[in-house]
Parts: sequence; structure tokens; C-alpha cells
Amino acid sequence: MTGVGDAALTRDGIAMNDLDEKHIAELRERLVQKQEALLGLEETGAQAANTVELDQTTVGRLSRMDDLRAQAMSQESERRRHLELQRINSALQRMETGEYGHCVRCGEEIALKRLEFDPAALLCIRCASEAESGAD
Ligand SMILES: [Zn+2]
Repeated sequence: MTGVGDAALTRDGIAMNDLDEKHIAELRERLVQKQEALLGLEETGAQAANTVELDQTTVGRLSRMDDLRAQAMSQESERRRHLELQRINSALQRMETGEYGHCVRCGEEIALKRLEFDPAALLCIRCASEAESGAD
């Protein structure tokens, strides 16, 4: 689903986010839960990588290749987890400094619907779609 507007209009037709402390507290809670879940996964991933090392002497070549492939995949998902954790950390930091909810690139307000969908969003929808299309 795209098209979650970046100009969130209130009932009064005033473009604003209505991002009050209660909203921020809810979003912070979601970020912290996600952060904890990601940190939990990270430990499991590190254990899996160690297992591959140990298995090299005891298993045949084919299954070792499978293991290495699995290890590469786990490294890739590890990398994504790190990026996601960084995003969450900066979002939490920005809540502390009061910058949360503003696009890091253009400074515009990020639509509340977008933040509810992705509380770690650092870019407004316009900058995000520019970044995705490789215009940067
Ligand atoms: Zn922006």
C-alpha cells in the first residue's frame, strides 16, 4: 500500500501531525519492543555462526557448503538487523531531542500514519520514495 499522504489533514483541514506525548510514548514502546526482539535474534544468529565453524571437521563437503550458504544468509540478515537497530536507535534518540517526527533530510513533518506504520521512519514519504528510486 502506497499513498499514505504526507499532508495529514485533520478534521479542521489544518495540515499537522498531532504528534503528542501520548503518541510518542506509544511509538517509543513499539520501538523498544522491536529493539529487544532484534537484539534477541542477534544472539541466536551469533550462535548459529559459531556452529558452522565447529561442524566443518565433522560433516561432508556438500553439507558444509549448505552450512556456508546458510552462514552467508545469516550474515545478510544479521546486516539488515543491524541497519534496523540503527534506525530504531536514531528514532529513540530523536524522541529524546524532540526532533522525532521530522524528516532527517528536508525537515518536513513525517505523516503520523507513516510513523504508525513504521515508527523508525526517518524520512518523509517524499524523501523516502526519492531514496528508493535511487535519485539520491
Ligand atoms: Zn523529507
